[in-house]
Amino acid sequence: MLSTVKGMIQTLSSTFRGLRGPVTKLYPENPTVVQNRFMGFPGLTWDKNVDEPFCTGCMVCIRNCPTQCMTATMKDNPKFADESSKRRKIVDEFEINLNRCILCGICVNVCNFDAIVMTHEHEESGISRDGSRMNLSGLLEIGGRYQTQTGWQPSSKD
Ligand code: SF4
Ligand code: SF4
Repeated sequence: MLSTVKGMIQTLSSTFRGLRGPVTKLYPENPTVVQNRFMGFPGLTWDKNVDEPFCTGCMVCIRNCPTQCMTATMKDNPKFADESSKRRKIVDEFEINLNRCILCGICVNVCNFDAIVMTHEHEESGISRDGSRMNLSGLLEIGGRYQTQTGWQPSSKD
């Protein structure tokens, strides 16, 4: 008897909860809110002290990426020549094919320069085969957004 009453109370409360309106949120009007430790697509960080990327284009992350979805080239850093930066080399081109990225975070773990972070970005779907290739400026943009959102600070000063 008691269990029957409990069941009826449960049914009635569910019924009235249903009358409050739909609980399904429309997308994209209501974007997904992620937790701080969420690992979205990788992005590159910006060194505000020197006004240049942290990335030197050293290729360590690229050699360790299990899906080989990254490419980069480096160049001589003109700011090293005029002594405004301690980086001899600086990234010239960088590209990640986000379609192939498995969000493993290995690139972040192996980078010695705090130059790459797992951002909160996860809404990069498109309809073209090459639409998910993100270049240096795009990667710096999502990395910079992550830096601002989270108050990110480099762990090392190099
Ligand atoms: S992100 Fe880090 S590991 Fe990758 S190329 Fe740049 S400096 Fe090197
Ligand atoms: S998160 Fe993993 S798969 Fe994606 S770019 Fe970094 S190392 Fe490659």
